[in-house]
Amino acid sequence: MPCMELSKLKRRGLMLVLSSPSGAGKTTITRALLEQNPDVQISVSATTRKRRGGEEDGKDYYFTDVPTFNKMVENGEMLEYAKVFDNYYGTPRAPVEEALSKGHDVLFDIDWQGTQQLSEIARDDLVTIFILPPSHAELEKRLRKRAGETLETEEQIQGRMDKAASEMSHFSEYDYVIINKDIDTSLAKAQTILNAERMKRARLVGMSSFVRGLMDGL
Ligand code: 5GP
Repeated sequence: MPCMELSKLKRRGLMLVLSSPSGAGKTTITRALLEQNPDVQISVSATTRKRRGGEEDGKDYYFTDVPTFNKMVENGEMLEYAKVFDNYYGTPRAPVEEALSKGHDVLFDIDWQGTQQLSEIARDDLVTIFILPPSHAELEKRLRKRAGETLETEEQIQGRMDKAASEMSHFSEYDYVIINKDIDTSLAKAQTILNAERMKRARLVGMSSFVRGLMDGL
């Protein structure tokens, strides 16, 4: 029987989802994870929301209008999509499928609605992490700091806090929860999850054949 060489063992790419209420530190953790793992590809979402200062089209999002977004949905070009904060957000299908087929891991910064849709179509390849703030006071402090930078009104801040509460109620749908008290510790936890999930037996392609080769040689 032909023996599978070690070099022929492959791994299926995994889909790593990070969700959180805004203000929990998800963006910082996402950026740091990408920096630490240059082999991981970020899924760039399409959105109908307006571009914020400092954001780049094609890097942070593909900024688009509602008719174009709807056309992409109708054509089946979105892996998932949802309405968040009165705007549409969706994950373009093609780049994700291409990366996974090459065995690359893909990172998604999407909300609970998108996570539910992905788990319906790709549960075995999905690893989901929910990031929580350490306390109510800390979340409010972070949201108020951000609001100060973008000149938001008290009503808008209250709206964000209400949305944060409803987003957080979905924590139990996730595989892992990280309470983000300190960025370095949270990043280390996210990296540990990624490392362990990469080693899962079910993701290793060709393992049976490799082990058969080992056994046959004995
Ligand atoms: P923001 O407008 O602040 O960049 O993002 C608002 C929310 O939309 C965040 O919670 C983010 O995770 C979520 N989001 C971004 N892209 C997508 C996407 O492609 N699909 C879904 N379902 N949510 C997304």
